[in-house]
Amino acid sequence: MLRRFFLWCSESGWLARQLPQMPFVRRSVQRFVPGEKLDDALGAVDRLGEAGLSSVLTRLGEHVHSEEEAAAVAAHYVHVLEQEEATGRAAEISVKLTQLGLEQSTAMALRNLRHLCAEAAHRDNFVWVDMEDSSYVDQTLEVYRGARAEHDNVGLCLQAYLRRTAADLETVLGVHGTVRLVKGAYDEPADVAFPDKADVDENYFSLAVRLLEHIREEGGRQGLATHDVGLLERVRTAARAAGVPPHAYEIQMLYGIQPEAQKRLAAEGEHVRVLVSYGSEWFAWYMRRLAERPANVTFVLRNLLSG
Ligand SMILES: Cc1cc2nc3c(=O)[nH]c(=O)nc-3n(C[C@H](O)[C@H](O)[C@H](O)COP(=O)(O)OP(=O)(O)OC[C@H]3O[C@@H](n4cnc5c(N)ncnc54)[C@H](O)[C@@H]3O)c2cc1C
Repeated sequence: MLRRFFLWCSESGWLARQLPQMPFVRRSVQRFVPGEKLDDALGAVDRLGEAGLSSVLTRLGEHVHSEEEAAAVAAHYVHVLEQEEATGRAAEISVKLTQLGLEQSTAMALRNLRHLCAEAAHRDNFVWVDMEDSSYVDQTLEVYRGARAEHDNVGLCLQAYLRRTAADLETVLGVHGTVRLVKGAYDEPADVAFPDKADVDENYFSLAVRLLEHIREEGGRQGLATHDVGLLERVRTAARAAGVPPHAYEIQMLYGIQPEAQKRLAAEGEHVRVLVSYGSEWFAWYMRRLAERPANVTFVLRNLLSG
């Protein structure tokens, strides 16, 4: 119930205007977001690098209302790539297609995504495409395939909670795509997504095994994004059994979640990449983090009580 409550909050425009003004909410979010400015995120990239962890940067925000807004988001990410090049950093970028104009037209999102891939390719960098709620999956796949036809430095997030994902995974592997496999963060109906966590976890495992098989047969790069260390152990055991070495795949986690596991896995020889979010539009994203783990609410309450 709490999960649904926080997912409902994530879509409330009124709460998105009210809660971020409250100091205890701002203090709580700092655990997951190093700051609102790009420089705050770049500082986190440096600290992660010192601990042997790679990074991927994303500016929070969803949905734009015009071609100009979408172009401004793309221009921001080009600026990120330029800043990184100028300062010798190598963090990748991760984008939401609704920020690149997907709701205006798939053509606009594709144009902006191709532009980012070309700019990233100049700098030997890589672009990840987030997956949003299930109403966008078909268009997201279409745009991804269009970008992948011209660029090989682009990866796509697929969500294990969706019943359709096993088929979508084959589509993406069919175009030699790169996948970031996650469990999924949105509120979806039972005919679209597995309602039971145990089924989501099992589906994640079997999709991860399929990715390992693909790496063994064809090489390429694939990402396993989860903080579920038990599930990761199962996948790592399957990788060893299949003869897939640790560096052939990548483990990805979010900034501020399981930081000790991130360092331990890196020390054990895994390639670990941490997604660092920044920007002022953190409300919906933060509500989804609370939905994932209602125990985080105690942390918010402690910040409320500490004044
Ligand atoms: C790099 C990356 C990119 C992502 N991109 C997308 C995307 O594009 N689209 C999308 O739908 N989802 C995305 N997600 C979110 C993902 O779908 C899950 O909602 C999220 O990762 C939580 O699921 P889990 O796999 O960690 O497993 P869970 O079973 O939810 O969690 C396993 C354990 O991890 C810890 N944990 C998990 N979440 C939290 C939290 N919020 N706070 C504290 N501890 C926590 C807890 O110890 C928990 O028991 C992304 C996640 C990552 C790591």
